[in-house]
Amino acid sequence: MNLAISGLKYIEEIKNGNYTIEEFVSKTLEQIQKLDGKLHAFLSLNDKAIDQAKKLDKKIQKNEKIGACFGMPISIKDNICVKGTKTTCASKMLEDFVAPYEATVISKLKSEDAIIIGKTNMDEFAMGLTTEFSAFGPSRNPWNHDYVPGGSSGGSAVAVRALECVASLGSDTGGSVRNPASFCSVVGYKPTYGLVSRYGLISYANSIEQIGPLTRTVEDLAFILNIISGIDDKDNTTVDNKNEDYLSEIDAGVEGKKIGIIKEMIGDGADKEVVSATNNAVKKFENLGAKCEEISLDMVDYSVAAYYTISATEAGSNLARYDNLRYGFDFPLEGFEFNSYISKARKNFGPEVTRRLIVGGFVPSAGFAGKYFLKALKVKSKLTAEVNEAFKKVDLLLAPTVPICPFKLGEKIDDPIALFLIDFNTVTANLTGKPAISIPFELSDGLPIGIQLLAKSMHDKALLQAAYALQNTVHLPEIQL
Ligand code: GLN
Repeated sequence: MNLAISGLKYIEEIKNGNYTIEEFVSKTLEQIQKLDGKLHAFLSLNDKAIDQAKKLDKKIQKNEKIGACFGMPISIKDNICVKGTKTTCASKMLEDFVAPYEATVISKLKSEDAIIIGKTNMDEFAMGLTTEFSAFGPSRNPWNHDYVPGGSSGGSAVAVRALECVASLGSDTGGSVRNPASFCSVVGYKPTYGLVSRYGLISYANSIEQIGPLTRTVEDLAFILNIISGIDDKDNTTVDNKNEDYLSEIDAGVEGKKIGIIKEMIGDGADKEVVSATNNAVKKFENLGAKCEEISLDMVDYSVAAYYTISATEAGSNLARYDNLRYGFDFPLEGFEFNSYISKARKNFGPEVTRRLIVGGFVPSAGFAGKYFLKALKVKSKLTAEVNEAFKKVDLLLAPTVPICPFKLGEKIDDPIALFLIDFNTVTANLTGKPAISIPFELSDGLPIGIQLLAKSMHDKALLQAAYALQNTVHLPEIQL
């Protein structure tokens, strides 16, 4: 049995009776046992996975109806609530928090008989892009263990690449699905804002974030999107996608499509290997019949500043509930007055979350809001107008997912500004609500480089079609695990 197969292939194998769900799930757990001591993709595992697999196998034996996932082992970032399991956000603050309810995406996956194999590592509260800010230790890049896997959904990307699951769900507030997808060489996707319910996702910056899948192929991604997307009365920011089928016509191609290459994202800040990969991707699209032209988006230069101002402000209010009264630890009140009690509680946050909360308290405060927060909102609307304007001329936008190649663990951990700037190519999709995908494209010195595509809001299907076309031109060497 081969773990290195796509989700769709897995379903075919199970349907054909080539092996049982139990066999595949056991093999997956063995893989985790073998590799995760080093890779640290998981924070916890589902100890009922084998029982669940057995039950599904019985259903198949008895010819009973079974959901579309056929027991596919899927991992979940540890900021998405799976009822009855720990959901820690990789934070000491939620170390013992057991989710009392199910996120909508999880109910949907379970109703299609997916097996939630475990919860994946991440930067604390999804703040970061290397997974080094996990309170429980970093994950490692499976291509080279000395390198970061990207983040904040680093554990998810590692688990998918290292065959520790078939697919994963992460969250993308400013690139957190696409960045690790690029660094680990998996497909990672941020849907149009509102396409996937956020109910049960522990909020970081709720006005811009989405849950998104990480998979080994674009088809798998479309398959999972079919399950998790759609309107949800528990999240009133969701939109009705009329049960769109993202998998049908995935091979429609890009003949005649116009693609704009975002000039600012291949400028001075980009590594030469990354620029060269981007040029190669453009050539591939041209060979596939697309028309490519460079396009300039002036507001992109301000996007990182606006992103960090807005996301810190929203984090400031979303994380106010971790005060040990509502969430956190239950330690006695005696000997404290109100402020000192809260302040003791807040010491459970790690350095990056603390930094964001300090900024998030300051930038929207009386006397400063006009200078910082409101200005950031203006950048957001100007950027959105500019991107909408660009989409009158082109069908898709293209850029490298990350401006630089993967780097070593510890290399940038003490330089927050350098880390923030690595989000330069990803935050535009979040600030404008557009769908965006990272597709594995090249290896440079044995480390992956991903290519990013963006589309108009609710044109997720066209985006996946273009991603599929590019994917089929790419042939990367096998990873040595
Ligand atoms: N690196 C960005 C941040 O730290 C993105 C995080 C994310 O998308 N969750 O905020």
